[in-house]
Amino acid sequence: MSAVRRLDGAVAVVTGAASGIGRALSARLVAAGTKVAMLDLDAAALQNEAKALDRAPAEVLPLPCDVTDFARVSETLAAVERRWGGIDILINNAGITHIGLLADTDATVVRKVMDVNFFGALHCTQAALQSLGRRRGAVVVISSVAGFAPLFERSAYAASKHALHGLFETLRCEVAADGIDVMMVCPGFTATAIQAHALGGAKRRTFGRLADPDEVARAIVAGIAHRRRLLVLSPAGKISWTVSRLFPSVYEKMMTRRMK
Ligand code: NAD
Repeated sequence: MSAVRRLDGAVAVVTGAASGIGRALSARLVAAGTKVAMLDLDAAALQNEAKALDRAPAEVLPLPCDVTDFARVSETLAAVERRWGGIDILINNAGITHIGLLADTDATVVRKVMDVNFFGALHCTQAALQSLGRRRGAVVVISSVAGFAPLFERSAYAASKHALHGLFETLRCEVAADGIDVMMVCPGFTATAIQAHALGGAKRRTFGRLADPDEVARAIVAGIAHRRRLLVLSPAGKISWTVSRLFPSVYEKMMTRRMK
């Protein structure tokens, strides 16, 4: 296996590609010469974003798709394989959040967040796995700092992201012999539409500097090329990683004080 993964000429599938980090990732991959299938629920935004990127020699394929619908995901990824012969890189990026104390959060909100963030990634990965195995490909999972530590008023979001680590860190062990890389990515707060679209209706709260989606995308694309297994992005994210692992009760107190 070569040390550096070639992006030029590779085929990538990016979910949640019409906005934020997914849009920035699609642009970065196209610039690196990767063919990009852009999947999103929002068909109108997807057409606009794909048109903005579709300048020769880049190849982009906008494919409206709800990642919570396994049948639709399977058809969509089969269309990518027919068009380009296979899939080298799958980026499970589509995600939603909610804001509110668990005591005020309806179970339907928790299910919706799990459906998109967890089952969406599961569906895409199961539909792409054979092709990824044939091409010794890569699965990228956009988790969060909330994937390894608590996040005040986002209990279901944190649960969905923690669940991704359990699933994909086990998958990594299972597919290592097939040459498939699995990379978990934990961005900190990033300037995208996710908070504005949050379910639950409580007032949004973020802290620290918001990262730019393009700087997040640049780090992720470099991580794919260098076959990294975990990316914890942003200085605040790196501090969170260390404090939450070594001093979990201190982290909980900091989180509660800062977010309240
Ligand atoms: P965003 O809202 O800008 O983009 C998310 C995209 O996902 C949207 O285009 C939306 O239409 C799409 N989407 C939602 N449900 C879908 C579904 N069922 N099927 C297909 N597409 C669907 O948000 P973003 O911040 O760019 O989020 C991208 C990822 O980054 C998410 O997984 C999020 O949890 C993660 N993340 C974001 C932040 C942040 O602060 N923005 C921090 C850490 C992790």
